[in-house]
Amino acid sequence: MSSSNHFDAVVIGGGPGGLTAAAHLAGRGLTVALVEDRLVGGECHYWACNPTKALIRPIEVLELARAVPGVREILGSDGVDVEAVFAKRDVIIDHLQDHDMVAALTEAGIEVLHGRGRLDGERTVVVVDAEGGERRLHAERAVILATGTRPLLPDVDGLTSASPWTNRDLATMTRVPGRTIVLGGGVVGVECATILSGLGSAVTLVVRGSTLLRGSEPFAGARVARALRDRGVDIRFATQLTSVERDARGGICASTGDSLVEADEILVATGRSVNTEDLALETIGLPGEGFVAVDDHLTAIGVDGEWLYAIGDTTGRALLSHVSQYHAGIVADVVAARAEGILQNGSESMARDTGRLAQVIFTSPQVVEVGLTEAAAREAGFTVTTRTATYPGELGQLLILRDGFDAEGKLVIDADRDTLLGATFVGPDVADLVQAATVAVVGEVPLSVLRHVIAPHPSLSQIWNPLVTGG
Ligand SMILES: Cc1cc2nc3c(=O)[nH]c(=O)nc-3n(C[C@H](O)[C@H](O)[C@H](O)COP(=O)(O)OP(=O)(O)OC[C@H]3O[C@@H](n4cnc5c(N)ncnc54)[C@H](O)[C@@H]3O)c2cc1C
Repeated sequence: MSSSNHFDAVVIGGGPGGLTAAAHLAGRGLTVALVEDRLVGGECHYWACNPTKALIRPIEVLELARAVPGVREILGSDGVDVEAVFAKRDVIIDHLQDHDMVAALTEAGIEVLHGRGRLDGERTVVVVDAEGGERRLHAERAVILATGTRPLLPDVDGLTSASPWTNRDLATMTRVPGRTIVLGGGVVGVECATILSGLGSAVTLVVRGSTLLRGSEPFAGARVARALRDRGVDIRFATQLTSVERDARGGICASTGDSLVEADEILVATGRSVNTEDLALETIGLPGEGFVAVDDHLTAIGVDGEWLYAIGDTTGRALLSHVSQYHAGIVADVVAARAEGILQNGSESMARDTGRLAQVIFTSPQVVEVGLTEAAAREAGFTVTTRTATYPGELGQLLILRDGFDAEGKLVIDADRDTLLGATFVGPDVADLVQAATVAVVGEVPLSVLRHVIAPHPSLSQIWNPLVTGG
C-alpha cells in the first residue's frame, strides 16, 4: 500500500469493474487506490444483478417443483415464503455493508477511500469524503473511470414527486406492493415484472413500443410476454404515461391520456444515466457528461498521454456486469504492459467484445442471447441463414426435466463461412446453455464441426441437436 497520495493507479468507482481492475492491478505489483462513494461492490452487488437474482430464484424453483410429478403433490397452494426470500437476499447483499469487501481489498494491498472522486487535470484525482474532507491523489500511470450508471427517470408530469421505485427499491424491498405499475419493457422491466408478480403483486407493465425486449429476437419478447400474461401481468403495449400522482392515502394514480391505472407503487425501468457528470471531465478537455469513448485498449479517446481509461458501464459498450469485469482484466493488462513499455497492438490486451457478447435475461422462462440477432447480422452486411427449433418437439425426453417443457431456439449463421454469428434460446433453465453458445460464436466454430459436438442424453444440451443437424 502507498503511504502517500501518490499511486501507480487510481480507480474511481468500486463496482464489479472497478474493484476487479484494482485487484488485478495490485496483483501485478502496482500501487492502487480505489475510490467509492457508496458501497464497494457497486450497483451490481447491492441493487441490481445479485439481489434481483436472489429474488427470482425461489420463484423459478417453485415453478419447477410444481412441474415435477412426485414433488408437486407434496406442495401446498401457497406461493414462496417472502420473508425467507428477503432474508436470503439480505445475506447475498451483505446487509448493505461492504466491510468484508474492503477488508479483502485492503489485504490485497489496495487503499480503499470512501468518498466522491473527480478529476482535476492530468493524472490528478480529488476525493471528497462524507464530512467534506478532501484528499488529492496523483496517479503516475493510470486513472480508471468505472463509475457505472444510475436509473434514468423519464420526463413524465408528476413522476419525480410521486417518489417512484427504481431497481434500488425493488432490490431492497421489505414488503411486496399489492399492486405495482412497472414502466418499461426492456430487460430490467421484464425482470422486475417477473419478480413482483412471482412474489404476489398485481403488476401492470406499461410499454411504449409494441414488443418486449426490443433488440432481441422477436420470439424472445413474445414468449416472455406470454409467460407474464399467464401469471396475470397486465401488459399495456403502445402506451405512454402522461402524468403520475401519489394521492393522500399514498397510492399511485397514473394516467395514460385515455385511461387511469391505480397502484400502490410505480417502478421505473426506462433506462440508465451514466455517472460521469460529476467527474469534472472538462478539466482534461473531454465533454462533461455522457459515456466515455474508449479505444479497444480501453484508453479514453481525446486525451493525450495514455493515462486515462474507462471500463464497464462507463464506456457504454455494454451495460453488463461480466463485461465490466472482462474490461477490468484487459485494462490491467494494458496499464501493466505500458508501465513496462511492452504494450503491443496484439489481440491479448485488446477488448474483443463487439458483436459477440452473451446475456441471460432472468425472466421465467429464461432468455439467453449471444452475439448478433438475425436483424443485426443482416444490418451488419452478413449473408445470413437461420435455423430454428421448438421443444420438446422430437426431443420428448426433455419432459424428464419437467412437465410442459416449452422452449425455442434460433441460430444465426454466416452463410459465407458456415459459422455462428448468434444464438438465442428461450426456455426453462436455458441459462445453462449460454457458455456453449458463446464458445461457438467467439470461437467461430463451423456448423460442420458443431454437428459433431455430441450432447449427452438426457440433458438440456440436446436442445442443440435439431439446430446443428438442421433436422
Ligand atoms: C435491475 C438490474 C439487474 C441487472 N442484472 C444483471 C445481471 O443479472 N447480469 C449482468 O451482467 N448485469 C446486470 N445488470 C447490469 C449491471 O448491474 C451493471 O452492468 C454493472 O453493475 C456495471 O458494473 P460497473 O462496475 O461498470 O458499474 P457499477 O456497478 O454501477 O459501479 C459503479 C460504482 O461507482 C460508484 N461511483 C460513481 N461515481 C463515483 C464517483 N464520482 N466517485 C466514487 N464512486 C463513484 C458508484 O457508487 C458505484 O458503486 C443489471 C442491472 C440492473 C439495473
